[in-house]
Amino acid sequence: MELWIPGPVPVSEAVRQAYGVEPPSHLAPDFKAAFSRSLQAMRRVWLAGDDHQPFVVAGTGTLAMETTAVNLVDPGDRVLVVNLGLFGDRMAEMLARRGARVFQIGPAPGADLDLAEVERALDEHAPTVLFATHVDTSTGARVDVQGLCALAQARGVLTAFDGVCATGAERTEQQAWGADVVFTASQKAIGLPAGLALWVCSPAAMARRRALKSPPPLVLDWLSWLPIMVAYEAEQNSYFGTPPTTLIPALDVALADLLDEGMEAVFARHAQVGAYVRERFVAAGIRPVAQTPANTLTAGYLPEGVDGPAALGALKERGFVLAGGLHPLLKQTTFRLGHMGTVIRDRSRVERVVDAVIEVMGR
Ligand SMILES: *Cc1c(COP(=O)(O)O)cnc(C)c1O
Repeated sequence: MELWIPGPVPVSEAVRQAYGVEPPSHLAPDFKAAFSRSLQAMRRVWLAGDDHQPFVVAGTGTLAMETTAVNLVDPGDRVLVVNLGLFGDRMAEMLARRGARVFQIGPAPGADLDLAEVERALDEHAPTVLFATHVDTSTGARVDVQGLCALAQARGVLTAFDGVCATGAERTEQQAWGADVVFTASQKAIGLPAGLALWVCSPAAMARRRALKSPPPLVLDWLSWLPIMVAYEAEQNSYFGTPPTTLIPALDVALADLLDEGMEAVFARHAQVGAYVRERFVAAGIRPVAQTPANTLTAGYLPEGVDGPAALGALKERGFVLAGGLHPLLKQTTFRLGHMGTVIRDRSRVERVVDAVIEVMGR
C-alpha cells in the first residue's frame, strides 16, 4: 500500500535505518553530534541567517503552532490571522485562548488572497503580529509569503508562518524575505515519521519573547528550550525534557539529504511535480480547488457523479491511499493527493498514482 496523503509521507531507506535502532542516550557523543548538525542544517533548509535560532522539540505541528502563538503574543495584543482554511481557524483559536484580540482576513476556500486587502487590514487593525499558513492543507492553496512579509515589515509587524505543509518543499527564504517565525513538523515535506516540531526564529522574534509581560506555559516557552538548543548545537548537553533520541538522528539524515540535493533543486522538483499533477488532473476533468495551488499537495473537486468514499476505496484496492476532503465546506466534494518528500524523486511512482486517480475518477 502506498501512502499519498498530505502527511505522514513515506520516508527514505536511510531515514528508516537512522531511527530503527536501539534508542541512544541523550548524552551519547554521536547523538550530540547529530543534534548539532540538525540545528545547523535547519538554518540552511529554511534559508535563515546565522543569527536565527532553530528549535527541535518532541511534538506535532499543532504544538509548533501553539508555541508560536504564546511566545509572540501577550494577552490583549492585537493580531491579524490570514486565514485560508482549517489551520487558520486553529491558529485563531489558539491566539484567542492566549487572550489576544484576533482579527481575521481570508478569501473563500481555495480563492486567491488579495494582498491589497491584507494591507488595508494591517492599517486598520494595527496588529503586532501577522500569522499565516504557507500552504493550507485543507484547500491546497498557497499564499505569497514574500508579499506578506514585505507588507508587514513596512509597518513593523512581526510575521509567523505555518509551514507544516510547505517547509522543505515550497520556496522559503526566511532571511531574505524577513519572516520572523517559520515552523513545521517532521512528517510532512521534511520526510520523517511524526514526532518532531521544528521552528526557526529571527532575532526579532526572540526579542519579542523576551519582552513579553506574561510568560508562556513552561513547556511551550522558547526560553525553556533555548539553552538546550544552544548546548546541543555546541555538541554539549543540557536537560529540560528528554529529546527524541531516535528521531533526531533521522532528522540529521533527512536534512543532509535535502541539502545534498540543494534547496533550489528541491523547490524545482516539487514545482515540476505539482504542475504535472495539476495538468493531468485538469485534462481529465478534475479541477483543483486552489486558484494559486501548492506544490506539496493537490486538493481536487470530485468530478460530477463521483462518490468520494467509493473512489478512495477503489484507489485503495489498486494500492494507493489518498485523503478525503478536510475543509468543513469541502468535505463531501473534494479529495486530496499529497506529493511531497523524497518519494516524488521517482517520477514513475507519481505517474502511476496519477494514472490510477484518473482511471477511477477522471472522465
Ligand atoms: C498537518 C498540518 C498541521 C498540523 O500538524 P500536526 O502534526 O498534525 O499537528 C498544521 N498546519 C498545517 C498547514 C498542516 O498541514
